[in-house]
Amino acid sequence: MLTPLTGRSVIVTGGSKGIGRGIAKVFAARGARVTIAARGEEALRRTADELNAAGGRVRWAVCDVADWESVRRMVDEAAEVQGGLHVMCANAGIFPQVKIVSMTPDDWDHVMATNLRSAFLAVKAAIPHFEKAGGGRVVLTSSITGPVTGYPGWSHYGASKAGQLGFLRTAAMELARYNATINAVMPGNIITEGLQDLGQEYLDQMAASIPLKRLGSVEDIGHAALFFASDEAAYITGQMLVIDGGQIIPESLAAIADI
Ligand code: NAP
Repeated sequence: MLTPLTGRSVIVTGGSKGIGRGIAKVFAARGARVTIAARGEEALRRTADELNAAGGRVRWAVCDVADWESVRRMVDEAAEVQGGLHVMCANAGIFPQVKIVSMTPDDWDHVMATNLRSAFLAVKAAIPHFEKAGGGRVVLTSSITGPVTGYPGWSHYGASKAGQLGFLRTAAMELARYNATINAVMPGNIITEGLQDLGQEYLDQMAASIPLKRLGSVEDIGHAALFFASDEAAYITGQMLVIDGGQIIPESLAAIADI
């Protein structure tokens, strides 16, 4: 049983939907005060209402995670309202599919800014608050795609997710002086609004390649993020956890055909 997070101040970027909403839900259920941040106001409001109706203490903030001023303002306001900042879940991300032959330099830059630059901005904005609090936790949402696997159309996405892990290792050293840790969750295929947009054929194909024979839930990722943010994980930093139902293990589809 992990120590409850009662009163801890948490930010979850991309908390209006999908994995971010799952992370926010798990933290709110453990007593944390949570700010969910994203661009779209309607989904933010809906998710905050839903989590508050279940007993959470959740506020929302409009923010573009690729924009420094927007991130700095969102983080400073959350810290002011929530009594500091203890946990930063840098989760927001996009995964548009386009093959290299058709990809424009702008396509590449947009994914890099949303997925990788955002990790740097979130950590940079959190540091002064971790210093004030005497410690802190960062949880990045990376992916199996890029660090471990590849998929046609996701060269920019995979590079951004692998890039997050390169950032994480040096950030772990630099954050140590603030008594802060940084770790990454690496989801496999998790049922979210974004993943459903890829279509049923994609979802079926993925489920068939997972030894546990199901796609993941957003709470599956929320629980892993909760562990990294817990008191019990105080001595873990610069590390990654794959949460994928075993998807990266089989050497072929035949290997799991009759398990
Ligand atoms: P999702 O359902 O599409 O939700 C994405 C969230 O990020 C939304 O809240 C979205 O809100 C927000 N967002 C996107 N761009 C933003 C920006 N520029 N500024 C602020 N917020 C932004 O996606 P998801 O499947 O939950 O994915 C969440 C994270 O998990 C991503 O980093 C993704 O790469 C990673 N991941 C997902 C899977 C999976 O299977 N689902 C697997 C591996 C990794 P707005 O659009 O309103 O801003």
